[in-house]
Amino acid sequence: MPDPQFESHTIVIGAGLAVGACLKQANIPCIILEKSDRVGSAWHRHYDRLHLHTDKKNSELPFLPYPIDYPRYPSRSQLIEYLESYVQKFRLDIRFHQEVVSARYENDQWEVQAQSSLYHANNLVIAAGRNHEPFLPTWPGQDLFKGTILHSSQYKNSELFKGKKVLVVGFGNSGGEIAIDLWEHGSQVSLAVRSAVNVIPRELFGVPILSIGILQSKLPSYIADAINAPILRVAIGNITKFGLRKLPYGPITQIRRDRHIPLIDIGTMKLIKNGQVTIYDGIKEFTEEGIIFKDGKQAQFDAVILATGYRPRVNTFLTSVSAMIYDEKGRPLSSGYETKMPGLYFCGYYVATTGMLREIGFEAKRIAASIAGKPTPISQSFV
Ligand SMILES: Cc1cc2nc3c(=O)[nH]c(=O)nc-3n(C[C@H](O)[C@H](O)[C@H](O)COP(=O)(O)OP(=O)(O)OC[C@H]3O[C@@H](n4cnc5c(N)ncnc54)[C@H](O)[C@@H]3O)c2cc1C
Repeated sequence: MPDPQFESHTIVIGAGLAVGACLKQANIPCIILEKSDRVGSAWHRHYDRLHLHTDKKNSELPFLPYPIDYPRYPSRSQLIEYLESYVQKFRLDIRFHQEVVSARYENDQWEVQAQSSLYHANNLVIAAGRNHEPFLPTWPGQDLFKGTILHSSQYKNSELFKGKKVLVVGFGNSGGEIAIDLWEHGSQVSLAVRSAVNVIPRELFGVPILSIGILQSKLPSYIADAINAPILRVAIGNITKFGLRKLPYGPITQIRRDRHIPLIDIGTMKLIKNGQVTIYDGIKEFTEEGIIFKDGKQAQFDAVILATGYRPRVNTFLTSVSAMIYDEKGRPLSSGYETKMPGLYFCGYYVATTGMLREIGFEAKRIAASIAGKPTPISQSFV
C-alpha cells in the first residue's frame, strides 16, 4: 500500500516549535515532522545535571516567557516543561515518529518523504538541530582500550563512574559540566584539551554574560574583545598557569569567526585551579589501560567520555539540492533566511554571541514573515 499523502502550506522538519508558533500567529498552516515520540527529544536525552548556560530572559521562544518561579538558569526538565507548554499554547500540529528520509524540490513543490507518509508543501523549514549527530573522532589503538568509551550524548549521570578514573575529551560546555558532575560524585577526573581555548564566566558582576554579548553585538569583534580582555583577566585569571593554552583572539571573534562557543564557566575552572581536575594535552593514541597524550605523557583511565560535539548533517535527508545550500560537512550556509532554493529555510543553525535559543526566536519570526509575504500556489484546503 502506498504511504498516505498530506499537503500543507509549510512543512517543518524537526523541533521548529518557534517557527510553528510564528506561522500560527500569521494564520499559515504548518505541519511539524518529528522523528522521535516527544517534544524536546534532544533535551530528554541530555545529561541530568544540565541547566541552560544562557539566562531564561534571553532564552525565550517567541510570545511565551518562562514561568516566573523558574530560576535564572532553568534546568533541563524545566526547559522540557516549557517546550511542552509552548506546543499546547499554540496547538502546534506535530506528527511524531516521522523521521524525514528525503526532501526534494519537484514541480515547484517540496516533496518530503517521512517514515510512513509523504508530504507536499510550498515551503520547507529545516530545524533538525545543529546538534544533530554526535561527532565521534577516532584514535589509533582505540579498539585495544579495555575501559568504557562513550559520547557525551550517551552520558546521563555519574552513577557508573563513582571512584573511577575518567578522562573527559573536549573543553566545550558539555565537557566542562560533565567534569563537574563526575568530580562531585567521586570520580577522579581529567580533561583532554587539544587546542587553545577561551573561557568566559556565566555572569559578570551579577549580569548574565549573554546580556553583555547582546549589548556588544553591533561592535566589531576586535573592539568588543579588546574591551572585554582586561575584565576577563580579572574574572577568570590566567588560564595558561593551569596547563591550558589561550587562543590568540578573544571569545567574540571565536564565536563569530570560528562559530565556536567558548567554555562558559560554571565551576570547571575552580576545580582545575584547585588541582581537582587535571588537564592533559590532546590524545595521541589509546593503550589497553589508558591514553598516550600528544606531549608524550601517559595515564591510566577506566572510562573516556567524548565531549567532542555534534554535526548538523542536513545532507543526510536533503537530497538533490544544490551544494550551494550547505557545505561538504552538511552545515547549512545560512540560517533564518530563504536559501537559494525557493521556499527552503534553515532555522537554528546560526552560532551567535547572543545565544542560540534567542536567535532561534528571531529566525523563526523572520522566516514566518518571509513565508507570509508570498503567494500560495498549493490549495489552502489543508489536511
Ligand atoms: C548540551 C547542550 C546544552 C545547550 N545549552 C544551551 C543553552 O544554554 N542556551 C542555548 O541558547 N542553547 C543551548 N544549546 C543549543 C541548543 O541545542 C539549542 O539552542 C536548541 O535546543 C536547538 O533547538 P533546535 O530545535 O534547533 O534543535 P534540537 O533541540 O536539537 O531539535 C531538533 C529536533 O529535530 C528532530 N529531527 C532531527 N532530524 C530529523 C529528521 N530527519 N526527521 C524528523 N525529525 C528530525 C530531532 O529528533 C529533534 O527533536 C545547548 C545544546 C546542547 C547539546
